[in-house]
This record gives sequence, structure tokens and C-alpha cells, in this order.
Amino acid sequence: MHQYLQLNGITKTYGDFTALKKVDLTIEKGEFVTFLGPSGSGKTTTLMIIAGFEKATAGDVLVEGKSLSGLAPHERNIGIVFQNYALFPHKTAVENVYFPLQMRGVRRGEGLKKADEMLALVGLGGFGKRYPKELSGGQQQRVALARALVFEPSLLLLDEPLGALDKNLREQMQIEIKRIQRALGVTTIFVTHDQSEAMSMSDRIVVFEKGEIQQAATPLEIYHKPQTRFVAGFIGESNLVPARIGDAAANQAESTALGICDYAPTESAVTDGQDVTLLIRPEHIRLSRNPIEGRKNVRMQVETIVNYGDNALVIGKVGDLQMRVRVLGADVVIIKEGEECCISWQPEAVFVVPR
Ligand code: ATP
Repeated sequence: MHQYLQLNGITKTYGDFTALKKVDLTIEKGEFVTFLGPSGSGKTTTLMIIAGFEKATAGDVLVEGKSLSGLAPHERNIGIVFQNYALFPHKTAVENVYFPLQMRGVRRGEGLKKADEMLALVGLGGFGKRYPKELSGGQQQRVALARALVFEPSLLLLDEPLGALDKNLREQMQIEIKRIQRALGVTTIFVTHDQSEAMSMSDRIVVFEKGEIQQAATPLEIYHKPQTRFVAGFIGESNLVPARIGDAAANQAESTALGICDYAPTESAVTDGQDVTLLIRPEHIRLSRNPIEGRKNVRMQVETIVNYGDNALVIGKVGDLQMRVRVLGADVVIIKEGEECCISWQPEAVFVVPR
């Protein structure tokens, strides 16, 4: 694997508070990586250290094997877009985009031409002469993106760049950013706390929690094979069931509420008697009046049905355990709140969360 960007044991402390604990990560050239995690988990701090606006207490950032320590932010050749894009209000769009080239000593004629080309690439051809206040939020964000890309940075850092936009515009910009990133092949780190944004945009997702990386993997791996209980609970909807491994050789666990549960063969080493968490996604559970042959069946007391039109979320109790089931809209008419029903699943739907 070509290691383009390397974070080696990055630690950041503020007084006696540790914001980052020995963060290790490698990113390949051209990869689109998302930093995902709750507020305060260390995403922005990591980005700021890469950009050079913050200094790590320990550890090093390397690009193509060379340390960036000792280089000022403007010497790092990194393009950055923040949520509050801060365009220069008294410069036109094209002058804004030309600015980083001007700083790098590119002559005006050539620089403005490049800036125009970059504006066209972000879908703003013909908007160059407008001032920021004459542009919509999404258009301003595109100008900021063009400004971050015009000098062909070795790395693009995007910190919640779509946070201020409404839902439709946000989705449109997600697609645009992906298109532009692909077209230029620029290695990109995108910070968000929106998991669907991370899922849809990334080659790889890095999940942060309390200053540590919980897991760095493709969106599908993160969803289907979460390596920690935190990731299992943070990504998507989940039923997390406390259980104990009954017979590891037979892939069987025992849960107080669900009884004996067959689980999908696991890559992690588990031993008989070990306490574990079982993950069962709500969309992998079927709801029926009567038990279904060939599946694990348990009876559930239905408490709440939340209807979303094309699907519904059914929340109920199996003993003391709350279970959530996602059903297609039509299926939910078979059952009412307060009634008892059957829920069932295949062993493949049950994933043992390693940590
Ligand atoms: P958000 O999604 O809210 O932006 P984040 O994951 O980006 O969160 P960071 O901004 O990296 O989180 O912050 C990580 C932790 O470091 C937080 O607990 C924050 O309060 C703390 N922190 C950040 N900057 C400072 C500072 N200058 N002094 C003290 N603590 C700080």
C-alpha cells in the first residue's frame, strides 16, 4: 500500500486534558477519507495538527515520508475549507480564487485564467465577477472549494464544509465534492459528524471517540463489521444485546432475553464463557404473527410503531430487552401497539462485536 499521509502517534494535551491519544493512521494517495465522531472526539484537532495550525504534543505528520514539523501552514501545500468559508467580502469570486496563487507569486494574467478554470470546474463558470454577498451559501462554498484547490494542493482538508447548508443543497454539494475530488485525484480528509454523509462519500471512514481512533475501514466494513461497541452503536440503527459465548466452536451465544443465539462465524477469537455484545440490525429482523420455520424466533411485546410512510420502526420488549425492528410499510399493518408478535432472524444477522 502506498502510504501518502502518515500520522504517527499524534498526542495532543491541553493542560491535564488529553484531546488526542497516540493517533496512528495512514492514508493512500487519492483517497477520500472521512473523520467521523461525536462532538469533542478530536476530529478538528487532528485536522488542525495536519494543517499546522496546532502543534502536536507528541508524534509526527509525514507526507510521502517527509515530516511536516517545522513547516508553517502556508508552506505545507494544503488546501482547507471550513464551515464558515470566510471568503474575502471585498474581492470578487475570481479574485478570491486567485488569491492563493498571488501569494505564491503567480502572475495576474495566468493566475486569473487558472482561477476561472477552477470556478468552471466547481460549476460556477460565469460567476467570477460576483461578490460573495451576491452568491448563495452553496455557491460561496464552491468558491471556497475552488480557492482551496486552485494551487494544486497535495492534500485537501474539509472541516464540516456543508454544515451551514440546508438538506437538499447539502446532498447536491456532497455529489459535487465527490465529482471534483475524483476528477482531480486529490487526497482528501473530510470531517463530519453526519454518518450518512460519511457513508455516502468516503473510500474509508475513521471513527473517533474520546481522542482515539475506534476503527478505520470502508463504509461497508464499518457498518457490517464494527470492531467496537461504540462503532456498532454510533453507525446506523442497532440492537446491541449483552450475551455470553456458550459454545465458541458451534458459534453459539447465550443471552438472558433471547436465549441461545446462533451467530455469524467471527474472525475475532472468542472463548466459551466470554461476555460479548451481539449486534442485530433492525432491518435484518422479520416481524410476523407466528414463528417462521428455519429462523430464530422470539416473542416480542410491541410498544411503539413509528411510521415513515415507506417503512416503519417497531419498538418492543423481549423480556427486559428493548428491540427495534425495521419493517416495510405494508408489513406493519399485521400488528398493533400493545400486541404480541414474533420476531425472527437468521444466524448471519447476528454479529459478535469484538470489543
Ligand atoms: P466537533 O465535532 O464538535 O467539532 P471535534 O471532534 O472536532 O468536535 P475537537 O475540536 O477536536 O473535537 O476537540 C477535541 C477536544 O479537545 C474537545 O474536548 C475540546 O474541548 C478540546 N479542545 C480543543 N481545543 C482546545 C483548547 N484550545 N483548549 C482546551 N481544550 C481544547
